[in-house]
Amino acid sequence: MKKIIVLFVSLTAMAGCLGKEKTAKENMNKQEFNYVADQFADLQILRYRVQGFETLSLKQKQLLYHLSEAALTGRDILYDQNNRYNLPVRRLIEAVYLNYQGDRKSEPFQALETYLKRIWFANGIHHHYGQDKFNPGFSPEFLAHCIGRIHANQLPLRPGQTADQLMTEIFPVIFDPAVMAKKTVQSGRQDLILASSNNYYAGGITQKEAEDFYAKMMDPNNATPVSYGLNSRLVKEEDGTITEKVWKVGGLYTQAIEKIVAELEKALPYTENDKQKAVIEKLIDYYKTGDLQTFDEYAILWVEDTASEVDFVNGFTETYGDPLGIKASWESTVNFINKEATKRTKVISDNAQWFEDHSPIDKRFKKKEVKGVSAKVITVSMLGGDCYPATPIGINLPNADWIRRDHGSKSVTIENITEAYDRASQGNGFDEEFVWSDEEQSAIRKYGFITDNLHTDLHECLGHGSGIILPGVDPNALKAYSSTLEETRADLFGLYYLADPKVTELGLTPNAEAYKAEYYKYMMNGLMTQLVRIERGKDIEESHMRNRQLIARWAYEKGKDANTVSFEKKNGKTYIRINNYPQLRKLFGTLLAEVQRIKSEGDFKAGQQLVEDYAVKVDRPLHTEVLERYARLNLSPYKGFVNPVMKEIKNTAGEVTDVILDYTEGYAEQMLRYSKDYSFLPAYN
Ligand code: ZN
Repeated sequence: MKKIIVLFVSLTAMAGCLGKEKTAKENMNKQEFNYVADQFADLQILRYRVQGFETLSLKQKQLLYHLSEAALTGRDILYDQNNRYNLPVRRLIEAVYLNYQGDRKSEPFQALETYLKRIWFANGIHHHYGQDKFNPGFSPEFLAHCIGRIHANQLPLRPGQTADQLMTEIFPVIFDPAVMAKKTVQSGRQDLILASSNNYYAGGITQKEAEDFYAKMMDPNNATPVSYGLNSRLVKEEDGTITEKVWKVGGLYTQAIEKIVAELEKALPYTENDKQKAVIEKLIDYYKTGDLQTFDEYAILWVEDTASEVDFVNGFTETYGDPLGIKASWESTVNFINKEATKRTKVISDNAQWFEDHSPIDKRFKKKEVKGVSAKVITVSMLGGDCYPATPIGINLPNADWIRRDHGSKSVTIENITEAYDRASQGNGFDEEFVWSDEEQSAIRKYGFITDNLHTDLHECLGHGSGIILPGVDPNALKAYSSTLEETRADLFGLYYLADPKVTELGLTPNAEAYKAEYYKYMMNGLMTQLVRIERGKDIEESHMRNRQLIARWAYEKGKDANTVSFEKKNGKTYIRINNYPQLRKLFGTLLAEVQRIKSEGDFKAGQQLVEDYAVKVDRPLHTEVLERYARLNLSPYKGFVNPVMKEIKNTAGEVTDVILDYTEGYAEQMLRYSKDYSFLPAYN
């Protein structure tokens, strides 16, 4: 629950302005490195640069190399977790794409290519953000025609299955909008598990059955519970019994997990110190046993290793994809520290206790002693699983509340990803279209980049780690609303402190007015511009988007009488105006206190009400207007990344003498290579 995804507007907003201030030299640098790799549907694919890689030691590079191989190796796991037909559909469409002999410029083939590119991006047949199944844009007849020309050994057939039988089975999944319509349904009155078509639960198990299954495992008196159900599929067998199929060596996904373990083992000789070695060994042990106690031991070793320069995430980590917030998707990042930029986050973490003590929440919910907030800025060198191609700009782990309480958490800001977003989206006209006046635009120009980074730092380093859950409160009490409310809490913590004189005193912002840039962008985004990511007629599903609208709508409604924030019209267009910034800060503080209370007390009803009242429903006329204005700008609302290609250089004796990065690989090229070299799972699991 601790991943921050890019706040859409901030990057486009700062883009419009930074562009004008760039020097000629920087513009030249931009041309030398090609940040944009591809653009299609609602997506733009970027490249990120791994600054400083060349200056690492050979040993560190080799460590990064093997961790990177492990990061790519788990790719198919995520496909299968997202939907049980994702692997056969991807392999089928790839086979057509590679073997098609007709006109590749024809309309149906172009549609098929776009469909495949969207599947690669989403790691499946549903939109990565909106959760809706893709409309393929070509006909079943066209696909059947293509399949008819492919040799059967190229098709993802079940044992004994014919091509015709494959089509009968799989075409409704591709073409019928009513079949598996949504990946994850996060709210509503229906059975969330039955309504979701992801693969965390199977055999027709109901939400009630799954909740009961895990409720039985919870012991409210256990202060250090394992993350029940984190690494398994819950299956209802034909006789009605319910069992967990654990993802481990010898269990579900063993073919891929064995390969991950093999790469982790190859990484061991290159570790920087014994602590780091112990982290990787424990992770291997966990993959081999699937034991969640071992996973916690691993998480503790990992969070306590703050001395190593190279670091990674590899495993079943975030639970956004499960409506019950229990089961984790597989992901990986591989990275090393950015020492210069880490000085900023060090100031924040050094003052963690001050921030906790002065937070506007009830004393009963505060941490008496803030433990080990280790914050750093990192450079990623490989992304995998649920961090690829859509990538977070910050990560805060581990997720288990008691580990965070007793051992602290590691918080990172991924600055080479932020940098790529920034560079790729310069001068796109977004600000000019949506920001109220020159005054706000100029504030964003001056302070947008600084305050946006600082908001991310505060969110990650302090926000998620602050506060406590009262003894005896079930950490899963907020159920389907927990992700949204947790992000809300962390965002509010950051927003509240951005305007505090303390951050200026610490030298984190240049003056006491700078925070206004981020406040403006946040409100504009939450009330209006993030809606460009929602299709007409749809509601908001994704946790981070919900959290932003929750905060912005709530503050707007509660400040209405005092005219704190208003909607204004100019030339028939709607704008946000903030009329009283200090008052808005107070509102953020009030809401932070309430959301903390909800988490600390496990007040499900109040949490549900907040989310359903403010976070989900979309203002239809405003949505339509925003979509139309945005469409005229010709921008992509979602962005993701291709990885660099990491290559070992060997001498004639076969010894590795260097590891180098190549940035020239294209998007489709990379995806096809991964499908060829890192496809370890059978089509059906
Ligand atoms: Zn977060």
